[in-house]
Amino acid sequence: MAPPLKTHCKRGHPFTATNTKLNKLSSGYTVRQCKRCRSEFEKLRYHNNPKRQAAVRARRNVSYYEARP
Ligand SMILES: [Zn+2]
Repeated sequence: MAPPLKTHCKRGHPFTATNTKLNKLSSGYTVRQCKRCRSEFEKLRYHNNPKRQAAVRARRNVSYYEARP
């Protein structure tokens, strides 16, 4: 028998319909991923990576100059 579904992620966010992303694995299993944890992880990755920030800044500058006549 499958174990009962957890109601909260490991960091305590509730597994609600809006806060949960379903990931279908190639093995056939579906795992639930907490969106809050995911966005926090992405933010952390961004702030710890100067290269990434420079890339985003460069993209912004390009669109800024392109927008000017
Ligand atoms: Zn979470």
